[in-house]
Amino acid sequence: MSEYGKGNGIHVYDFDKCIATLRQRHDDQEKRIEYLEKENKELKDNNYKDKQLQEIKDKLNRMTKEYNRGFPISEDEQKAIDEWKVKHKAEVHSAITSNHRSEFECVCGGNYLYQFIPTSIGVAGVITCSCGAKFEFQHIG
Ligand SMILES: [Zn+2]
Repeated sequence: MSEYGKGNGIHVYDFDKCIATLRQRHDDQEKRIEYLEKENKELKDNNYKDKQLQEIKDKLNRMTKEYNRGFPISEDEQKAIDEWKVKHKAEVHSAITSNHRSEFECVCGGNYLYQFIPTSIGVAGVITCSCGAKFEFQHIG
């Protein structure tokens, strides 16, 4: 296999070389496509992560605004409220008979009133027992 044909100047050897060169180029381009596809995917993934992170940030901002628009009770304030409730129940309501106590602690649990009083310098938070006792868990300023 040395010559394609005599007289036309085209040699089989050259043709094979040409095919080999084309195959080589084709393989190189295949590798390049593969590399670029991989890189493209990575870029998309990074972009996706950035997009997701931005969405999470936006959601957090929205939720923070929602939270601040309401009347949040901090963990420390909740702790103070719980302590006051226990103390108040023991000091004021423990004298009441168990029959009355169960009446006081009605099933709906609506024996405490929470009040939030917004002012120009802050919000005051007060919890009031059904007996009228008050505890200010959130102080202005
Ligand atoms: Zn009370």
